[in-house]
Amino acid sequence: QLKNSTIKAELGQSSWKLLHTMMARFPERPTQDEKEALRSFIYLFSRLYPCGECAAEFQAILAKHPPQVSSREAASQWACAVHNIVNQRLQKEIFDCGKIAEKYKCGC
Ligand code: FAD
Repeated sequence: QLKNSTIKAELGQSSWKLLHTMMARFPERPTQDEKEALRSFIYLFSRLYPCGECAAEFQAILAKHPPQVSSREAASQWACAVHNIVNQRLQKEIFDCGKIAEKYKCGC
């Protein structure tokens, strides 16, 4: 059980890192195609996320908070907000979304 929760936590840390870094790299002025790509990615991610309980919870969050794909800023703030919803449910600290741009840099 401890081993499983460690695996789940590591998967979560890596996944959030990827998601937030993708948002930090998303175009400031995306094309329609880029917007659709990000939206599809998020919904497919929520279906395929390899922790069944997490995936179900995330799908419920998406139903109330649909992905915001109009710009880098909108997408980054959306991802920060949904991560905070998960944080709240897991009784973790709430992250200050005003600091999102300085935290996630991809080095590319
Ligand atoms: P994480 O939440 O993994 O965060 C990693 C780092 O990101 C933090 O240390 C902080 O520096 C930064 N951060 C924190 N909040 C934000 C934010 N709002 N925006 C940007 N950066 C932030 N676990 C479960 O037990 N049950 C679940 O139902 C569940 N659902 C999940 C759903 C998804 C889509 C994902 C990706 C993960 C889910 N997890 C779930 C895992 C959980 O969210 C954590 O990743 C895991 O518990 C490890 O937590 P952590 O304290 O190391 O920090």
